[in-house]
Amino acid sequence: MGTDKRIASPSPDFRVMIRNAQGHYLARDDHGLFFTNDRAAAMVFDYLADRVAPQLEELQKTRGIALAVEPVPPEEVYEHCDGCEDLLMPWLIYFDGKRFLCAECRRREHGRARPPRPPRAREK
Ligand SMILES: [Zn+2]
Repeated sequence: MGTDKRIASPSPDFRVMIRNAQGHYLARDDHGLFFTNDRAAAMVFDYLADRVAPQLEELQKTRGIALAVEPVPPEEVYEHCDGCEDLLMPWLIYFDGKRFLCAECRRREHGRARPPRPPRAREK
């Protein structure tokens, strides 16, 4: 009877798009869901958070619709900071009219340079 202190396993979520048997992507507009061959219009899901797998399974069971997931490459999910070359989630990137910058680079660009951070020993 141990208290099972399970650390929530950090199963990394990833982004997927959903395709049908014809290879078309699931997309959505004001009229609802549809399939398109326009990859740019495809809906992007968080594979785990959006429970993609169980939902696809359900669709297949109840309606016989077989859909496949296609992982979105990280470089398409993340935005690229023009300053430090970091890849960041899109909402962490600012566009200043010319360049895409992360918060840090943006601060630097705007003249309020902070003193460089002292090197910090990494804990293992
Ligand atoms: Zn940056």
